[in-house]
Amino acid sequence: MFHCLPLRKAILDYKPANGDPNRGENSKELEPGPNGTNTEKDMLYELHLLFKTLASNKKARGPFNHRRFISAIKASNALFDNDEHHDSHEFINWLLDKVHEDFLRNQGARGSADGNGVGANPTSPVQDLFMGKLLNVVRCVTCETTTRREETFFNLSLDIEQNSSLIHCMQRFSVKELLNLDNKLTCDSCLTRQVATKEIIVGHYPKVLLVHLKRFRIDPRTFQQ
Ligand SMILES: [Zn+2]
Repeated sequence: MFHCLPLRKAILDYKPANGDPNRGENSKELEPGPNGTNTEKDMLYELHLLFKTLASNKKARGPFNHRRFISAIKASNALFDNDEHHDSHEFINWLLDKVHEDFLRNQGARGSADGNGVGANPTSPVQDLFMGKLLNVVRCVTCETTTRREETFFNLSLDIEQNSSLIHCMQRFSVKELLNLDNKLTCDSCLTRQVATKEIIVGHYPKVLLVHLKRFRIDPRTFQQ
């Protein structure tokens, strides 16, 4: 996230509407919530502090203090509140989503403070940079009725094969799939189950495409990796 320059800038420029939302900017460690309980933190603010440390670090490499950031993660999401290994894809999804919400919440708080309210379509730098659109196209082979369903995405999960390029993985992602046998489509026009084709097309690419490379594939027959 730090190496995505427009996102880095937006996070460094972040100004919480109501001052330090998590209290104690200068504190190396996060203050616990009331009665020592964990409460959800403004992760955008925590990233802002972390990025400030990283950006002001004169050395290109070397250690930096991340204890406060780790405490904020643990306080905000019970799933990560342990010392186990976690899935990086799951983590980035959660963090981006949280930062997106924090941007929107802060915009809302600023809007009410200025008396301007929130715009009709509030947006965040996370959305502006990473959100794309997928088009699910399902077509009944018998009557050729086609349904198109649009959905948004913030990253694409791609199967990878050895010695293949990213472009190849993208092409495979959009390969037409036959819905046959147990997977037949219940067609609204034919009113019966029919063989159909399904394809997923990237309808709109985001400015920055986040790709999740799936190194493991589950064999549907054996449930083995
Ligand atoms: Zn049909």
